[in-house]
Amino acid sequence: MLQSKLFTKTSRNAPKDEEALNAQLLSRAGFVQKLMAGVYSFLPLGLRVIRKIEAIVREEMVGIGGEELSLPVLHPRKNWLETGRWETYDTLFRFTSHYSKNEYVLGPTHEEVIAPLAKQFIFSYQDLPRYAFQIQTKLRDEKRAKSGLLRGREFLMKDLYSFHKDEADLDAYYEKAKGAYARVFERVGIGKDTVLTFASGGTFSKYSHEFQTLIPAGEDTVYLCEACCVAVNKEIIAEQPACPSCNAKNLKERVGAEVGNIFKLKTKYSTPFGLQYKDEKGAMHDVLMGCYGIGISRLMGVIVERFHDERGIIWPESVAPFRVHLIELNGASAAGLYVALQKEGVDILYDETARSAGEKLTDADLLGIPWRAVVSPKTKGKIELKARNSEKAELLTEEELFRKFEARNPKS
Ligand code: ATP
Ligand code: MG
Repeated sequence: MLQSKLFTKTSRNAPKDEEALNAQLLSRAGFVQKLMAGVYSFLPLGLRVIRKIEAIVREEMVGIGGEELSLPVLHPRKNWLETGRWETYDTLFRFTSHYSKNEYVLGPTHEEVIAPLAKQFIFSYQDLPRYAFQIQTKLRDEKRAKSGLLRGREFLMKDLYSFHKDEADLDAYYEKAKGAYARVFERVGIGKDTVLTFASGGTFSKYSHEFQTLIPAGEDTVYLCEACCVAVNKEIIAEQPACPSCNAKNLKERVGAEVGNIFKLKTKYSTPFGLQYKDEKGAMHDVLMGCYGIGISRLMGVIVERFHDERGIIWPESVAPFRVHLIELNGASAAGLYVALQKEGVDILYDETARSAGEKLTDADLLGIPWRAVVSPKTKGKIELKARNSEKAELLTEEELFRKFEARNPKS
């Protein structure tokens, strides 16, 4: 991609009303733009990051048997009356049609849609288990939306729903999902900062689990066992004051952002919709369900909160908008190198703009692309390569540069 053709430009200052660091950096760098509190446009650079995160999440969900579908955002009131959540869901967006006077919900989550949908296809024990997921926009009437991408009124979520014939099957799948979640957070670069957190299980099971990334910008308080790297969330610390894994009592209070949540719903949503199956002997039972969420757009904000410095964002390679930022300075040309690297399949942003070296390098630090390759009169036909997360640069020949990126990016 040629930088001169980018739809967006960087800006020196963040919008005055952006309090959160993730939103400040992402809007200065031209990744997102706030339309109103809690509602963001994802601009071309930002969408590239979202697509990379989605691809990792999708791969891991398919890896545990998930089939992707897409459910409507607009729901009829009836489904939400069925489960009682029309009255009780505290961030539900409701509205009335101007014409028909029918009432609707803008989907904050999809149990009310997937349970009656599954009833169309699940009849017997032979139809179980089933796993369906989507990556989709959710809408929630959040009271406070001041944390940038960490709390949107409109945001992207991956939600997977599982359907089982008995608790043993649900339990086994739940553990599998836990593993897939750990892999997702590892692959997007926050594995070491993200802890499995015991949360209350509601009425049907003792625990649910959250994945909490320990960053100061988080909105949750968790109690961490440093030995086991598991935590307990605030709601259950009174009933579970010790580490659930080693029983140690010296849990440390920490701040976290919930990037994922897994939950055994059991029959909470199958019962109201009559989602049942016939067992081997012909007896009918309610289907057991699990649900598994990941905040895709929140994850993008969390990654920025975790990986930045005073100059800008530092993307982990797995989710970076481009792998290499090729920059020509002071009259040198990197046009040939750009074409050649592109041919090798290297994902590359080429800054061919006629701006000062200072401006271009400041931009590069703000954008946070993992590798910066500079060509200038000073590099004398070579390329100065520097990782965004390091201060050390190396001078490479074209051939050495190719070898480096070929090895990192094997052609498929
Ligand atoms: P929170 O306690 O932070 O409000 P939640 O318990 O309401 O989260 P879930 O309903 O389990 O969240 O949603 C699944 C995932 O979606 C969460 O783990 C989180 O990563 C993400 N998420 C939830 N609410 C928001 C929001 N308002 N903005 C962005 N991401 C969100
Ligand atoms: Mg919430």
